[in-house]
Amino acid sequence: MTTHVRVLGIAQDAGVPHTGCDCPRCARHHAAPLYPACVALVSGDQCWLIDATPAIAEQLRMLPAFPDGILLTHVHLGHVAGLLQLGPEACDVHDFPVYATKSVHAFLRNNAPWNLLGINPMELTDGDASSTLRLGDIAVRTLPIQHRGPLTDTVAFLITGPNRTVLYCPDADRWDDLPALLAECDIALLDGSFYSREELPRQMDIPHPPIEETWAALSPAERKKVRFIHFNHTNPVLDADGPDVPCAVQGETIEL
Ligand SMILES: [Zn+2]
Ligand SMILES: [Zn+2]
Ligand SMILES: [Zn+2]
Repeated sequence: MTTHVRVLGIAQDAGVPHTGCDCPRCARHHAAPLYPACVALVSGDQCWLIDATPAIAEQLRMLPAFPDGILLTHVHLGHVAGLLQLGPEACDVHDFPVYATKSVHAFLRNNAPWNLLGINPMELTDGDASSTLRLGDIAVRTLPIQHRGPLTDTVAFLITGPNRTVLYCPDADRWDDLPALLAECDIALLDGSFYSREELPRQMDIPHPPIEETWAALSPAERKKVRFIHFNHTNPVLDADGPDVPCAVQGETIEL
């Protein structure tokens, strides 16, 4: 039994093919979809999901067992829509642990249909070792991240196993202090939604640090840690002849 992170999806919230899009890049993925960004933490015969995406049914089929809980980064589409599959029409869970910040739980508690699910809210707090969550032989710390609201805050997770630490940060508006964010991890799965600033006409309204700017800011040692994730369908890294930067691969396993 190993302890590892399994990458269950690498696309932005809407997946690739993107909803309603017939661009050549989306057309190429009709037969082999890229699911919204999601990872599983696996410790022995237990596992936990980070985020509940619209493709949760397909992503659960990539796991050996039903998860023991779900951790949430924030409440945008690709990160919570899959919670609906926990309800009575599908999995019909009861007292199912959902780990999230206070503001995320307040949102889930105060709004239907989220408050009709059999969720057991487990509150995460930002910060140091005193707020570490233990899942099997994995320790998870919660890091606050600047990302557009307005409904809740957003976090990243620092995931430490017996041998290695992985940072999971699928969504950020900008990097306030990237060296500090990368300092404690061996592998960093970082927001790579867009490659450049010119991919979308409305990109100003949905800011993400473009890969080319993030990559240029990294030191050689930091570049060895980074794998980008959370790709929008406009991102040329999805092409076989796209830019040469390290990207997470759907289905890959990262030993902890
Ligand atoms: Zn997202
Ligand atoms: Zn497309
Ligand atoms: Zn988001």
